[in-house]
Amino acid sequence: MARPKTYEGGCLCGNIRFIATGPAMKPHTCSCKQCQRHSGSLTQIWVEFTRDQVQWTGSGGAPSKWRSSEWSSRAFCSVCGSTIGAIDDKPTLALALGTFDSPNRQELAPQSHSYVSKRPKWWGINNPSDT
Ligand SMILES: [Zn+2]
Ligand SMILES: [Zn+2]
Repeated sequence: MARPKTYEGGCLCGNIRFIATGPAMKPHTCSCKQCQRHSGSLTQIWVEFTRDQVQWTGSGGAPSKWRSSEWSSRAFCSVCGSTIGAIDDKPTLALALGTFDSPNRQELAPQSHSYVSKRPKWWGINNPSDT
């Protein structure tokens, strides 16, 4: 049996590090206002895992959280401020693809785009579902 794929990543300063064990679920982009403000970018790229698929391996342990909705919190590094992801109350969390050490893997390519209408018309992304 093939070993599950693993994905490593972390924040700008290295305080927060993670190892996520595949399968990586629902890679997607989102251009909602919350994702824009949290990421500082017009579109965030998310990859989902269950909580037990992700180990926090840096000296900072788990990232800091800020409650952003009734069902989810935004996660970040309290030292350097980097966006890490979104940690839902259900046993799912989403990691920002920009934090991955090696994002150039085909199974991480976004499959859908949430809140497409919130992105400026001049902001194009190479996403199969983006029109
Ligand atoms: Zn950091
Ligand atoms: Zn969003």
